Amino acid sequence: MKVFLSADIEGVTGATHWDETEKSKADYDEFREQMTAEVAAACEGAIEAGASEIWVKDAHDSARNLIAARLPQTVRLVRGWSGHPFLMMDRLDESFAAVMMLGYHSGAGSPANPLSHTMTGSTVSVKINEHFASEFLINAYTCGLVKVPVVFVTGDAGLCDEARALIPAIGSVAVKQGVGNATINIHPELAVDEIRRGAYLAIKEGPVLCQAPLPGNFQVEIQYKNHTKAYGNSFFPGARLKDATTIQFESDDYFAVLTFLGFVL
Ligand SMILES: [Zn+2]
Repeated sequence: MKVFLSADIEGVTGATHWDETEKSKADYDEFREQMTAEVAAACEGAIEAGASEIWVKDAHDSARNLIAARLPQTVRLVRGWSGHPFLMMDRLDESFAAVMMLGYHSGAGSPANPLSHTMTGSTVSVKINEHFASEFLINAYTCGLVKVPVVFVTGDAGLCDEARALIPAIGSVAVKQGVGNATINIHPELAVDEIRRGAYLAIKEGPVLCQAPLPGNFQVEIQYKNHTKAYGNSFFPGARLKDATTIQFESDDYFAVLTFLGFVL
């Protein structure tokens, strides 16, 4: 059984400030280690439940965060960005039985995490069919496109609630709660233990229950913080300027939506 895991850092227990997510900052190492520990625990749980091969997409910033030697030997680690429109799900295809998303965070505009954003910090909001879109939603639809169920998510409590609203049977571990510019976190070792157990149960029971729904049509609306971004990106084929800071794009084809997002976010 092949399992795909996409890993971010802003939804790892403890992570509260951008300095803790950026390679060049002194605060980063502790959180890179915690991201690695949470991903390794999810892999161990999945292997115990029957996964024979796990592809891990490092999906934060440079995509060169995870400490490879601390992951199980069955892991294939996808580092860097190939440029494929699947973005944080790069290399996912129909051959996988299940997807897990680790260290995920609430989307742009959400108060549930001080580090809330969607793909980049340059937007006020990203909406798909009038819903605020998190990276989880964008990537869950990618899973819907290739018909691979999303069985497990970890991150802030707001994101876990959102994931359960989309996929009621999804397994989740909320490792923290955001309050304004602060976070309330569970202990790093407790997070690791709960993630190992949660991943085991999700892989054991989740795949038949957790297919992500894929809409037939996508109305995408992106509001940027800076009007110059909106103007420039409005020239993407099929996009249009709604107002000075907002562009719109519409398609029935989710791959076309991903291609658009890859270029304008
Ligand atoms: Zn990130």
